Amino acid sequence: MKLVLATSNKGKVKEIKALCEDYEVIPYGELIQEFEIIEDGTTFKENALIKARAVFKALNDDTLVVLADDSGISVDVLDGKPGIYSARYAGVDATDKDNLYELINSIKEKGVKRSKAHYTAAIAIVTKESEYCVHGWMYGDVVSEPSGDGGFGYDPIFVPLGYDKTLGDINDETKKKLSHRSKALSLARIILQTL
Ligand code: IMP
Repeated sequence: MKLVLATSNKGKVKEIKALCEDYEVIPYGELIQEFEIIEDGTTFKENALIKARAVFKALNDDTLVVLADDSGISVDVLDGKPGIYSARYAGVDATDKDNLYELINSIKEKGVKRSKAHYTAAIAIVTKESEYCVHGWMYGDVVSEPSGDGGFGYDPIFVPLGYDKTLGDINDETKKKLSHRSKALSLARIILQTL
């Protein structure tokens, strides 16, 4: 089965490919010209469905299955921010690094070095006949000193529950077991088997 990913985020593509090795995983940009998708939902679920529906419609091929991930980090000391705005926390054209340092500054402004936080991933699947959405979460702490260059996005400041180092310093295999995305994908795989 061809599984088309409604994302161009290289970090996500790499992780989803590694977690779906038995499917032919194709980022949609390899099939059609990438286009802007307005993510104006108010939840991870709504935004994941918006992306999957937009790409399914644009592909115009009823035989394809489209999978979209909408994800982000929610920090307790920031009342759950940046949440669904994680990709644009430092502005519309912000890079992962801009967003990371914006978050570090926000945490420091609160006068703390550490806060509880969690990642959320909503995975939407859209086919000709049906739509689905599943979630996964990873809990831990964010710290104000980045460490390591593994993973992507906010990983250099995220310490998973039960660990004493950041995801930047944890190998890909371990992140694969722990991550919000892998938990949501293990549910998504059950759905994919029924299609
Ligand atoms: P989206 O592409 O709109 O879903 O935005 C997701 C954003 O959340 C990314 O740009 C990252 O900043 C952040 N994010 C989501 N998942 C992860 C992860 O596994 N590690 C680090 N950052 C993540």
